[in-house]
Amino acid sequence: MSRILVCGGAGYIGSHMVQLLLKRGFEVTVFDNLSTGHRVAVGEAELVTGDIRDRSALASLFATRPFDAVMHFCASSIVADSVKDPYVYYDNNVVGTLSLLDVVRQADIGRFVFSSSAAVYGMPERELIDEDHPTRPINPYGATKLMVERILKDAADAYGLRSVALRYFNAAGADPGGALGEVHRPETHLIPNILRSALDGSAELQVFGTDYDTVDGSCVRDYIHVCDLALAHLKAMEYLDSHAGAHRFNLGSGNGYSVLQVIEAARQVTGCPLPARVLPRRPGDPPVLVASSQRAQAELGWQPRHSDLDEIIGSAWRWHCRPRF
Ligand code: NAD
Ligand code: UDP
Repeated sequence: MSRILVCGGAGYIGSHMVQLLLKRGFEVTVFDNLSTGHRVAVGEAELVTGDIRDRSALASLFATRPFDAVMHFCASSIVADSVKDPYVYYDNNVVGTLSLLDVVRQADIGRFVFSSSAAVYGMPERELIDEDHPTRPINPYGATKLMVERILKDAADAYGLRSVALRYFNAAGADPGGALGEVHRPETHLIPNILRSALDGSAELQVFGTDYDTVDGSCVRDYIHVCDLALAHLKAMEYLDSHAGAHRFNLGSGNGYSVLQVIEAARQVTGCPLPARVLPRRPGDPPVLVASSQRAQAELGWQPRHSDLDEIIGSAWRWHCRPRF
């Protein structure tokens, strides 16, 4: 039986990954410092608490478990914070990944799947972004993801490490079974903020800018269901069985929705009026980000199956409305 190491498996996307791996019969170890993750989110998987920048903790982890592949979700990922305090981002996302990769090399593990981001592209030059679009990140967070992609390319050339970097667009939605969902503190993402405002009338819903050159003036994004992201990781891991090198794939639905369209869809799903206040633009927001995921579809054999906007919002709403004890 294969044993997979999921670094960052207590976080939002990583915990959905862990759930899928367990369902598919893999043995799973989560390594997480619980800085933004949650112990309860790892379910039946083994949890080892520790920091990827701690090489000795990683070395003892690898010395005692025979991992067949590593999936790496750990990162600091709030764009605005990365602008305010870039050293923290370079340290966690780049230095931390280098520390993990070094131990992966010593343990002679050949398959590595990395959470990259649409933030590597920067300001889009065309509406549908494919992997050949120029990569010019406009904030330190995006720069850290691009640096790791470069490190993975160099590691493939020098050490033969096989890797896939998955460039997610906007991860959203929740486990349809209701066991897992998105819990970030603070929450900066649009859909959970809308749903919190639906649950708690006093939480003001804010729209950052309605003066963009888009369908209704608000920013357009490509929302991809977190379970579709998890499935792509499985496909990526399988892909590496027969493909050497460092690979990059976009993961999005290919459909763009404006902030105002998402709010309207959430009104329909929740039945709440959702009054929203328009604020100035949020610095660093590109007006439109929509993925072409043709390469992932053609090469990984992956298709988004749950990324219809109503399904994304519906699953997230069920999670927000869950009973709490
Ligand atoms: P998250 O914050 O919920 O999960 C990250 C997990 O990594 C947490 O459990 C955290 O405790 C852990 N972690 C962070 N630094 C660590 C360290 N140094 N050592 C050990 N554990 C550490 O984030 P998420 O939304 O699930 O995102 C997962 C990955 O996907 C990140 O790399 C993020 O940059 C990337 N990504 C997310 C989105 C999105 O829309 N959420 C989009 C593009 C890319
Ligand atoms: N947004 C918003 N109000 C919020 C959160 C986000 O208007 O409370 C906007 C944000 O400016 C962006 C879009 O919604 O245009 C998606 O933002 P999110 O933070 O969810 O993801 P990002 O695209 O920044 O990764």
